[in-house]
Amino acid sequence: MEPFLGDRYGNPSGAHPLARDAVRAVDEAREQVAELVGCRPGEVVFTSGGTEADNHAVTGGIPVRSGVPVCSAVEHPAVLEPVAALGGRTVAVDPLGRIDLDDLRAVLADIVDRGRTVGVVSVMAANNEVGTVNDLDAVADVVRDAAPHAVLHTDAVQAAPWLALDRVVAAADLASLSAHKFGGPKGVGVLVVRDGTVLAPLLRGGGQERDRRSGTTNVAGVAGLAAALIATAADRDATTLRISALRDRLADGLRATVPGLVETVAPDGDRAHLLPGLCHVTIDGVDSEPLLLLLEDAGVFASAASSCSSGAQQASHVLAALGPARPGTGSLRLSLGWDSTGVDVDAALAAVPVAVERIRSFASASVGD
Ligand code: PLP
Repeated sequence: MEPFLGDRYGNPSGAHPLARDAVRAVDEAREQVAELVGCRPGEVVFTSGGTEADNHAVTGGIPVRSGVPVCSAVEHPAVLEPVAALGGRTVAVDPLGRIDLDDLRAVLADIVDRGRTVGVVSVMAANNEVGTVNDLDAVADVVRDAAPHAVLHTDAVQAAPWLALDRVVAAADLASLSAHKFGGPKGVGVLVVRDGTVLAPLLRGGGQERDRRSGTTNVAGVAGLAAALIATAADRDATTLRISALRDRLADGLRATVPGLVETVAPDGDRAHLLPGLCHVTIDGVDSEPLLLLLEDAGVFASAASSCSSGAQQASHVLAALGPARPGTGSLRLSLGWDSTGVDVDAALAAVPVAVERIRSFASASVGD
């Protein structure tokens, strides 16, 4: 990224040598991304991140795509909000967080029965709160069968560090990525637009990105995104193995040491349907907020719900969609990344039982008062 923030600070929309240098950098990044996600360079549209890519995919741009938008109930707000704003429908998930294919079929059939068309179906490749991975090929089969003219979008933002992206992207017409989820800079992403997919521009203006996304290209960001994706793909298999083992040690250790703790979407300890980097648990008789504060004091920075909003811990729409919560439980999300280590896991394994115990003894002392 550094040259494009320094002496090669050209604007790729210009016509002079510095501009041509920037164009070359953006073209090279586009080719690298295309190769790694298994599409043509012309199908890669650089965006300002996952939120823009999701909004573009769901709305279809300006003018808005006709037809009813549909998404799963556990999508990121960057999908849920535009679907709601356009009067769309949501599809149930099962208790492990996987989209309910029967409900998807029923919702699509209901829209068609009412004489409407389905505009887009958006189903995330993997969930950001609980880590559940969806079977996108099965989703695509249902959509092609029940609403063959609908566009299929997948938010692959969380999947990108862990799953083979060519398989994810092959299942959909549109796919969103965000660089900061795989070690790249914040504020830059990709919308993959497969050839033949009708999509109007969301941002209209100078006609950059072949008229699909106007605005001066973030050259350094795009170069950083491509470099991070190359590094991620090169190490993905080894990282996945290493981090899965660490996550398993973390989850098994918490189950063994914290009474009343349940792995939210792996209650029986089977984690085959989960991303390697997520350990989401619910704990009886423990509020999330004091738990997070105690963990913070111990140097463990965790989360209860998603961290994409104002920083406040809000009730999770993802947990609500999984089914009724056990009364009096709090949730805890521990995330591991490519650079997480055994020392990090040991720190969490030491801190969580102590924090839970403190909260429980405080609660029982207060009851005694
Ligand atoms: N989609 C998912 C699944 C996410 O987890 C996030 C961010 O955390 C986004 C979309 C939004 O991406 P960005 O922050 O790049 O706008």
